Amino acid sequence: MTLSNDFDCQSCGACCSFSADWPRFSMESEAALDLLPARFVAADEGGMRCEGSRCSALSGQVGVGTSCMVYDVRPDVCRECLPGDDACLIARDAFALNSA
Ligand code: SF4
Ligand code: SF4
Repeated sequence: MTLSNDFDCQSCGACCSFSADWPRFSMESEAALDLLPARFVAADEGGMRCEGSRCSALSGQVGVGTSCMVYDVRPDVCRECLPGDDACLIARDAFALNSA
């Protein structure tokens, strides 16, 4: 695994648009989850609400310019995904961004 500073998340957003199964909650406290606006939380309350494969809290256009609307209170899985790690590269591949 090669972590890279070459990837700019704000011009990517691929991991936030890769799978509805990805931005799921894990070990967050109730207090942490309470900080997430309800409109961004899935009906089963087990993760972020997605539209297709895309997290509803992602704004912007993947591969162009994106931002997380709940960045300061985002779930653990989002904090753990680092630019250049395996999950990042898989997500970027799905949007043909690794050769960009
Ligand atoms: S896929 Fe990688 S570069 Fe893109 S937003 Fe996620 S962590 Fe950042
Ligand atoms: S909560 Fe934010 S960082 Fe996490 S998947 Fe959604 S848009 Fe991406």
